[in-house]
Amino acid sequence: MKYEAVIGLEVHVELKTESKIFCGCRAAFGAEPNTHVCPVCLGLPGTLPVLNRRVVEYAIKAALALNCRITPYCKFDRKNYFYPDLPKNYQISQFDLPLASDGYLVIPTSAGSKRVGIIRLHLEEDAGKLVHVGTGESAYTLVDYNRAGVPLIEIVSAPELSSPEEAKAYAEKLRQIMLYLGVSDCRMEEGSLRIDANISLRPVGSTELGVKTEIKNVNSFRSLMRALSYEIERHSEFLERGERIVQETRAWDEEKGITFPMRSKEEAHDYRYFPEPDLPPLVIADEWVESLRQTLPELPDARRQRLITEYGLPEPTASVLTATPEVADYFETALQHYPEPRAVANWVTGELARCLNAAGLAITASPVTPQALAELLKLIDNGTISGKIAKDVFEEMFTSGRDPESIVKEKGLTQISDTEIIRQVVREVIQSHPKVVEDYRRGKEKALSFLVGQVMKATRGRANPAVVNQYLQEELKRE
Ligand SMILES: [Zn+2]
Repeated sequence: MKYEAVIGLEVHVELKTESKIFCGCRAAFGAEPNTHVCPVCLGLPGTLPVLNRRVVEYAIKAALALNCRITPYCKFDRKNYFYPDLPKNYQISQFDLPLASDGYLVIPTSAGSKRVGIIRLHLEEDAGKLVHVGTGESAYTLVDYNRAGVPLIEIVSAPELSSPEEAKAYAEKLRQIMLYLGVSDCRMEEGSLRIDANISLRPVGSTELGVKTEIKNVNSFRSLMRALSYEIERHSEFLERGERIVQETRAWDEEKGITFPMRSKEEAHDYRYFPEPDLPPLVIADEWVESLRQTLPELPDARRQRLITEYGLPEPTASVLTATPEVADYFETALQHYPEPRAVANWVTGELARCLNAAGLAITASPVTPQALAELLKLIDNGTISGKIAKDVFEEMFTSGRDPESIVKEKGLTQISDTEIIRQVVREVIQSHPKVVEDYRRGKEKALSFLVGQVMKATRGRANPAVVNQYLQEELKRE
């Protein structure tokens, strides 16, 4: 391909404060429609907004984690447009003086890593939500103002992403950082993380930007990639034919796998921004910023690096374990009770992840606590159960939420430690498989593992495979 893609992302993140940005209404998702509303967020005449201090704190923390410069003096502006989701007919946002600017984040790429610039981060209020019902003549629209006034930060990246994969990596990294900060739950399916993508193509080597289109309505990281791939394809076909690309906003249709025009530049909104007269300018003291900087948690890159150096974990394992702070916390809590990093990591990324996936549960809702997992690993360690039995016990723990010891006791899963019993079974197996024994003596190595399997089967997996192996070899030599 002789064109390269130039992609920038605008990401809206809903902050999970208790109350909305300019009134005392609850900001929580999922309530009955129009129950979290008051005269302020309904835009009734005579009401005045009051800025929520916690919103500014969360936004500053997000900006610091994204290496931004915090503006000591910023203000709010009215962005005017007429649409039923906006009760005041304007949205309080920030225009020329955003809260923060000039940041960056580092994303993993196939070549290693890449630093992607962040142009700005600003505060604004969310709009209400429209629900369109029915079709044709009988169609109507319902409005829910619960979301009106929920705090948002908009984070605008520099147009420095060059592929759908990089765009996805950027969005994922941004989400991961917000989750670590605890400022948002970043649920794309609930709209608390929303992504718009700008994309243009230019000949490889050129520094001039091509005509861009904006893609809206992507509801997952996967659809972000698909939508961008589709646009790259569409743009290059236009350029190949020597046709002009129209600068426009396009919506992604998940089912059809295409983008379609929403509005062109000609009819694009003129938002007539002007300063919000009801809110004083926001002055942010250095001391405030510094005290918030002290409260920043260990961020994903630092934590991943620490897991590698402190516990000697391989990079891919450390990445999986630090995907969310909850997974990393689980791992490190289990480790306090059973200090074998590799074993704990294997169980967290293996059995536990598999069971959680199958049950559709978050790790915080895991029926197996980190302490219980540690107890299970101790039982393997001290020879009470075999590693194979441990997997069955784990499943039982996951389903019932019970502790490993009582499951092992109740089901009689204790590893057979009586060596005489094992030796007896080994002899029986040898006697009942003369042909396999013969094969083994002729040098067929596989015959031995078959015999081990037979002993394990006879003991219902409760014998120690290493001991079985040793006894088999001894007994086979003897005859
Ligand atoms: Zn309100």
